[in-house]
Amino acid sequence: MTDVYTWIYFVLTGVGAVSALWVATLLRRRGGSAKRIVVEAECPRCSYRGYVGYSEGLYVGKRLQQRCPRCGAELVVSAIYEEAPPCAAGLLFASRGSGAKDRQRKT
Ligand SMILES: [Zn+2]
Repeated sequence: MTDVYTWIYFVLTGVGAVSALWVATLLRRRGGSAKRIVVEAECPRCSYRGYVGYSEGLYVGKRLQQRCPRCGAELVVSAIYEEAPPCAAGLLFASRGSGAKDRQRKT
């Protein structure tokens, strides 16, 4: 006959293992494309701001092929930076409340 403390030990170990796996899965799912280069483009005429895909040879101030959706002027690269991968704590909080909001912003 196993005593109650042994059962508690098993249950706690199980819970620990499951939550560790859960966190690992969460990190792997979101951190797949860990670092992403973000290119911000700005319209010099109407100050529209948008994002374009990164390609080699881009630099801040370069005129792009893309046209401004508002006024049709050539967009100019205003910033290029590497998006930091979200930290584990941020992921855990995001998955509770603001997760849906985050997903909307990205699409
Ligand atoms: Zn414009």
